[in-house]
Amino acid sequence: MSQEKRKAVVLLSGGLDSTTTLAIAQQERFEVFAMTFRYGQRHQHEISVAQQIAKHAGVAQHIIAEIDLRSFGGSALTSDVAVPKGRALEEMSTGIPVTYVPARNTIFLSFALAWAEVLGASDIFIGVNALDYSGYPDCRPEYIAAYEKMANLATKAGVEGQQQIKIHTPLIHLSKAEIIKRGLELGVDYSLTSTCYDPSPEGAACGQCDACLLRLKGFAENGIADPAPYAGKKPHEL
Ligand code: ZN
Repeated sequence: MSQEKRKAVVLLSGGLDSTTTLAIAQQERFEVFAMTFRYGQRHQHEISVAQQIAKHAGVAQHIIAEIDLRSFGGSALTSDVAVPKGRALEEMSTGIPVTYVPARNTIFLSFALAWAEVLGASDIFIGVNALDYSGYPDCRPEYIAAYEKMANLATKAGVEGQQQIKIHTPLIHLSKAEIIKRGLELGVDYSLTSTCYDPSPEGAACGQCDACLLRLKGFAENGIADPAPYAGKKPHEL
Protein backbone atom coordinates (compact mmCIF):
# COMPACT_ATOMS: atom_id res chain seq x y z
CA MET A 1 0.00 0.00 0.00
CA SER A 2 1.48 3.30 -0.98
CA GLN A 3 1.29 6.08 1.53
CA GLU A 4 1.52 9.68 0.43
CA LYS A 5 4.63 11.34 1.77
CA ARG A 6 4.31 14.36 4.03
CA LYS A 7 5.65 17.55 2.55
CA ALA A 8 8.45 19.52 4.20
CA VAL A 9 10.09 22.81 3.34
CA VAL A 10 13.87 22.54 3.66
CA LEU A 11 16.05 25.64 3.75
CA LEU A 12 18.96 24.87 1.44
CA SER A 13 21.95 27.20 1.20
CA GLY A 14 24.19 24.80 -0.67
CA GLY A 15 26.45 24.44 2.36
CA LEU A 16 27.43 21.37 4.30
CA ASP A 17 24.86 21.75 7.08
CA SER A 18 21.78 22.41 4.93
CA THR A 19 22.71 19.65 2.48
CA THR A 20 22.98 17.17 5.36
CA THR A 21 19.66 18.44 6.71
CA LEU A 22 18.03 17.81 3.32
CA ALA A 23 19.33 14.23 3.35
CA ILE A 24 17.93 13.72 6.86
CA ALA A 25 14.51 15.04 5.78
CA GLN A 26 14.49 12.58 2.89
CA GLN A 27 15.58 9.76 5.15
CA GLU A 28 12.64 10.64 7.40
CA ARG A 29 10.43 10.06 4.36
CA PHE A 30 9.44 13.66 3.71
CA GLU A 31 8.76 14.96 0.22
CA VAL A 32 11.21 17.85 0.08
CA PHE A 33 10.44 21.35 -1.15
CA ALA A 34 13.77 23.15 -1.07
CA MET A 35 14.12 26.91 -0.65
CA THR A 36 17.25 28.94 -1.35
CA PHE A 37 17.75 32.69 -1.02
CA ARG A 38 19.52 35.14 -3.22
CA TYR A 39 19.90 37.75 -0.50
CA GLY A 40 22.83 39.71 -1.82
CA GLN A 41 25.43 37.39 -0.28
CA ARG A 42 28.98 37.81 -1.50
CA HIS A 43 29.18 34.04 -1.92
CA GLN A 44 26.51 33.90 -4.63
CA HIS A 45 28.20 30.82 -6.00
CA GLU A 46 26.29 28.89 -3.35
CA ILE A 47 23.05 29.47 -5.25
CA SER A 48 24.14 27.44 -8.28
CA VAL A 49 25.56 24.86 -5.88
CA ALA A 50 22.18 24.63 -4.15
CA GLN A 51 20.53 24.09 -7.54
CA GLN A 52 22.87 21.19 -8.29
CA ILE A 53 22.31 19.67 -4.85
CA ALA A 54 18.51 19.95 -5.13
CA LYS A 55 18.62 18.29 -8.55
CA HIS A 56 20.96 15.58 -7.33
CA ALA A 57 18.68 14.87 -4.35
CA GLY A 58 15.58 14.71 -6.55
CA VAL A 59 13.51 17.19 -4.54
CA ALA A 60 9.87 17.78 -5.47
CA GLN A 61 10.48 21.48 -6.10
CA HIS A 62 13.27 24.00 -5.56
CA ILE A 63 12.69 27.72 -5.48
CA ILE A 64 15.14 30.61 -5.27
CA ALA A 65 13.61 33.49 -3.34
CA GLU A 66 14.98 36.98 -3.91
CA ILE A 67 15.50 39.28 -0.94
CA ASP A 68 18.20 41.92 -1.13
CA LEU A 69 19.68 42.29 2.34
CA ARG A 70 22.43 44.50 0.89
CA SER A 71 19.99 47.39 0.94
CA PHE A 72 21.08 47.94 4.54
CA GLY A 73 24.23 45.76 4.83
CA GLY A 74 25.34 45.17 8.40
CA SER A 75 27.27 41.97 7.75
CA ALA A 76 30.54 40.94 6.17
CA LEU A 77 28.45 38.68 3.95
CA THR A 78 26.28 41.49 2.57
CA SER A 79 28.67 44.45 2.45
CA ASP A 80 32.30 45.26 1.73
CA VAL A 81 33.43 44.46 5.29
CA ALA A 82 36.28 41.94 5.06
CA VAL A 83 35.57 38.32 5.98
CA PRO A 84 37.92 37.35 8.86
CA LYS A 85 40.61 34.87 7.87
CA GLY A 86 42.90 32.52 9.76
CA ARG A 87 41.21 32.91 13.14
CA ALA A 88 42.01 30.51 15.95
CA LEU A 89 39.12 28.46 17.35
CA GLU A 90 39.29 30.37 20.65
CA GLU A 91 38.84 33.62 18.73
CA MET A 92 35.83 32.22 16.84
CA SER A 93 34.17 31.23 20.09
CA THR A 94 34.13 34.73 21.55
CA GLY A 95 31.39 37.12 20.54
CA ILE A 96 29.17 37.29 17.48
CA PRO A 97 31.26 37.40 14.28
CA VAL A 98 30.92 40.04 11.54
CA THR A 99 29.63 37.28 9.26
CA TYR A 100 26.41 37.28 11.30
CA VAL A 101 23.63 38.53 9.02
CA PRO A 102 21.10 40.55 11.03
CA ALA A 103 17.89 38.58 11.60
CA ARG A 104 18.70 36.24 8.70
CA ASN A 105 17.15 33.07 10.07
CA THR A 106 14.00 34.93 11.13
CA ILE A 107 13.66 36.24 7.57
CA PHE A 108 14.42 32.85 6.02
CA LEU A 109 12.08 30.95 8.34
CA SER A 110 9.32 33.45 7.62
CA PHE A 111 9.58 32.76 3.90
CA ALA A 112 9.65 29.03 4.61
CA LEU A 113 6.61 29.37 6.84
CA ALA A 114 4.67 31.21 4.14
CA TRP A 115 5.53 28.55 1.56
CA ALA A 116 4.70 25.74 3.99
CA GLU A 117 1.26 27.23 4.54
CA VAL A 118 0.67 27.39 0.77
CA LEU A 119 1.85 23.80 0.35
CA GLY A 120 -0.17 22.52 3.29
CA ALA A 121 3.10 21.37 4.86
CA SER A 122 3.52 21.27 8.63
CA ASP A 123 7.24 20.64 8.67
CA ILE A 124 10.18 22.99 8.09
CA PHE A 125 13.80 21.87 8.26
CA ILE A 126 16.68 24.23 8.98
CA GLY A 127 20.30 23.20 9.43
CA VAL A 128 21.16 25.47 12.33
CA ASN A 129 23.84 24.43 14.73
CA ALA A 130 24.39 25.72 18.24
CA LEU A 131 27.85 24.20 18.64
CA ASP A 132 31.14 24.76 16.90
CA TYR A 133 31.75 28.35 17.87
CA SER A 134 29.12 29.89 15.58
CA GLY A 135 27.91 32.37 18.20
CA TYR A 136 24.88 33.20 16.08
CA PRO A 137 21.87 34.13 18.26
CA ASP A 138 19.38 32.79 15.70
CA CYS A 139 20.88 29.29 15.81
CA ARG A 140 20.03 28.60 19.46
CA PRO A 141 17.39 26.06 20.57
CA GLU A 142 15.48 28.71 22.55
CA TYR A 143 15.21 30.86 19.45
CA ILE A 144 13.86 27.95 17.39
CA ALA A 145 11.33 27.03 20.11
CA ALA A 146 10.09 30.62 20.24
CA TYR A 147 9.85 30.81 16.47
CA GLU A 148 7.84 27.60 16.33
CA LYS A 149 5.43 28.97 18.92
CA MET A 150 5.08 32.19 16.96
CA ALA A 151 4.54 30.26 13.70
CA ASN A 152 1.54 28.50 15.13
CA LEU A 153 0.05 31.82 16.19
CA ALA A 154 0.85 33.49 12.89
CA THR A 155 -0.77 31.37 10.22
CA LYS A 156 -4.35 30.84 9.12
CA ALA A 157 -3.70 27.10 9.03
CA GLY A 158 -2.30 27.17 12.56
CA VAL A 159 -5.18 29.15 14.03
CA GLU A 160 -7.78 27.00 12.31
CA GLY A 161 -6.06 23.91 13.67
CA GLN A 162 -5.31 22.39 10.27
CA GLN A 163 -1.57 22.52 10.74
CA GLN A 164 0.75 22.35 13.69
CA ILE A 165 4.01 23.75 12.40
CA LYS A 166 7.14 21.94 13.51
CA ILE A 167 10.60 23.41 12.98
CA HIS A 168 13.07 20.53 12.64
CA THR A 169 16.69 21.24 13.58
CA PRO A 170 18.38 17.84 13.33
CA LEU A 171 21.89 19.28 13.56
CA ILE A 172 21.41 21.70 16.42
CA HIS A 173 23.36 19.71 19.00
CA LEU A 174 25.89 18.07 16.67
CA SER A 175 29.51 19.02 16.15
CA LYS A 176 30.75 19.61 12.61
CA ALA A 177 32.48 16.23 12.70
CA GLU A 178 29.24 14.51 13.79
CA ILE A 179 27.28 16.28 11.04
CA ILE A 180 29.75 15.07 8.41
CA LYS A 181 29.67 11.54 9.81
CA ARG A 182 25.87 11.51 9.65
CA GLY A 183 25.89 12.90 6.12
CA LEU A 184 28.38 10.34 4.90
CA GLU A 185 26.18 7.58 6.34
CA LEU A 186 23.30 9.01 4.32
CA GLY A 187 25.37 9.17 1.13
CA VAL A 188 25.73 12.96 0.94
CA ASP A 189 28.18 14.01 -1.76
CA TYR A 190 30.12 16.76 0.01
CA SER A 191 32.12 17.55 -3.12
CA LEU A 192 28.99 19.38 -4.30
CA THR A 193 28.64 21.58 -1.24
CA SER A 194 29.98 25.10 -0.76
CA THR A 195 30.58 26.38 2.75
CA CYS A 196 33.09 29.20 2.25
CA TYR A 197 32.13 32.80 3.13
CA ASP A 198 34.54 34.18 0.55
CA PRO A 199 35.02 31.80 -2.40
CA SER A 200 36.89 32.58 -5.63
CA PRO A 201 34.81 33.66 -8.65
CA GLU A 202 34.99 30.02 -9.81
CA GLY A 203 33.61 28.86 -6.46
CA ALA A 204 36.76 27.42 -4.91
CA ALA A 205 36.77 27.73 -1.11
CA CYS A 206 39.34 30.05 0.53
CA GLY A 207 40.37 27.56 3.22
CA GLN A 208 40.89 30.37 5.75
CA CYS A 209 37.51 31.83 6.77
CA ASP A 210 35.75 30.55 9.92
CA ALA A 211 33.39 28.39 7.84
CA CYS A 212 36.25 26.78 5.92
CA LEU A 213 38.35 26.19 9.04
CA LEU A 214 35.47 24.53 10.93
CA ARG A 215 34.60 22.42 7.92
CA LEU A 216 38.20 21.28 7.42
CA LYS A 217 38.45 20.46 11.13
CA GLY A 218 35.25 18.37 10.85
CA PHE A 219 36.62 16.36 7.95
CA ALA A 220 39.98 15.94 9.67
CA GLU A 221 38.23 14.58 12.79
CA ASN A 222 36.58 11.98 10.55
CA GLY A 223 39.99 11.08 9.18
CA ILE A 224 39.13 12.01 5.62
CA ALA A 225 39.97 14.80 3.17
CA ASP A 226 37.32 17.33 2.24
CA PRO A 227 36.35 16.53 -1.37
CA ALA A 228 35.31 20.14 -2.15
CA PRO A 229 37.57 22.37 -4.28
CA TYR A 230 39.87 24.83 -2.48
CA ALA A 231 41.63 27.74 -4.15
CA GLY A 232 45.21 26.94 -5.08
CA LYS A 233 45.61 24.03 -2.72
CA LYS A 234 44.45 20.51 -2.22
CA PRO A 235 42.55 20.10 1.07
CA HIS A 236 45.27 17.94 2.63
CA GLU A 237 47.76 20.76 2.09
CA LEU A 238 45.75 23.25 4.13
ZN1 ZN B 1 36.44 30.18 3.18
